[in-house]
Amino acid sequence: MKIMKNAVVALQYEVLDDQGETIERGKEPLVYLHGGHAGIFPRVEEALAGKEEGDKVQVQLAPEDAFGERNDALVRDEPRARFPEKVAVGMYFEAELKHGDHAQPVVFKVVDVSDDSVTIDGNHPLAGRPLDFRATVVSVRPATKEEIDHGHVHGAGGHHH
Ligand SMILES: [Zn+2]
Repeated sequence: MKIMKNAVVALQYEVLDDQGETIERGKEPLVYLHGGHAGIFPRVEEALAGKEEGDKVQVQLAPEDAFGERNDALVRDEPRARFPEKVAVGMYFEAELKHGDHAQPVVFKVVDVSDDSVTIDGNHPLAGRPLDFRATVVSVRPATKEEIDHGHVHGAGGHHH
């Protein structure tokens, strides 16, 4: 079966940076529902359309096609007193970020600690970086009606509910 809208696709994948260093190699296949359900980067989805089991794709992603550009507004100084005594550079904290009337949890990394303040960075670690996404198609199957209704994959590699 070729990859088309409402196909469930499993990929063996690897993400490299623009220097050819491996950033991430999927231990488990990445499984997504093809056809604009936001399960995978749109540029990768485009490259996979029409491919079938065993085919390989390689896609160069600019930051705006992957995790976005870095946003300086997500780098903030917070009072030291709001953090635990042993706060150190490299630690991660979760905070609620308000978007209008709903709050979204965002992970912040501590990038600097001084006597009275802590600098935190809420950018995705890969924001601002071009990526080289390589994948091999492991399997392709038609989605069930329920998966199409939900807009995501059920079972192995997908949602369980
Ligand atoms: Zn579901």
